[in-house]
Amino acid sequence: MSAHASIDIDALNKYLESIDGISYIVAEEGFPVYWSKDLEEDDAEKMIALAVDLRNVLTNTMDIGGEEIYWTSISITGRNTGIAYLGANLIMIVFSDKKELISAVLDNIVRAVKGEKLSCGWCGRDLSLRTITCPSCGKKLPLGISTCPLCGAKISIVRCPLCGKPISVTGRKIVLRRRKGDTVAGAVFLAVAIGFAVAGIFKALAGELVSLPLFLASGIIGWMSMQAFSHKVPVEEKS
Ligand SMILES: [Zn+2]
Ligand SMILES: [Zn+2]
Repeated sequence: MSAHASIDIDALNKYLESIDGISYIVAEEGFPVYWSKDLEEDDAEKMIALAVDLRNVLTNTMDIGGEEIYWTSISITGRNTGIAYLGANLIMIVFSDKKELISAVLDNIVRAVKGEKLSCGWCGRDLSLRTITCPSCGKKLPLGISTCPLCGAKISIVRCPLCGKPISVTGRKIVLRRRKGDTVAGAVFLAVAIGFAVAGIFKALAGELVSLPLFLASGIIGWMSMQAFSHKVPVEEKS
């Protein structure tokens, strides 16, 4: 097999195959090697011929270790199409009615070719050629997308496909933190509850019968403070 910038043709096919809502063709030396199930081989060949003709309109270029890569997102016959030359002989064509899906696919593949990792903040593993699951519709999407192109849901938290922990769409760790207001409210409630308890102990020591309402009140306030403390919100780790 010929040398590619730094992407494996089988890995590329596996990645494209796993994404919902796209059609794709992977070609090597001008011939289709892989194409999605909804396409005929003839369609794949025609698209490759078109991509070869359009080679000079590919606007993004980069030299990676002596091999040039070119890519762009354009409209061909009314369809949103992403074309990339990943090294001398490897062509990738992706099309979809969702433009943002193509951009995200291209971004992730170019990133992988460049050797830039998109890592999980928790397990550190490279996610650039992994798919994430939309928390709303369950479709498989490329990482980096903040609105699901297939159902329209806003995506801020997804699960790492490798360790399952919550991450942002850029791979950052998501941790659960207390809300500031809740912390203050919780601390006030807790202080009042401790006050009641201390008053109860002193009353008991002084031989006085501790009243039932006082006990109930301290119990309720204690429970409320626990509730206030337990309210946590997802926060993106900055480091
Ligand atoms: Zn969705
Ligand atoms: Zn992970």
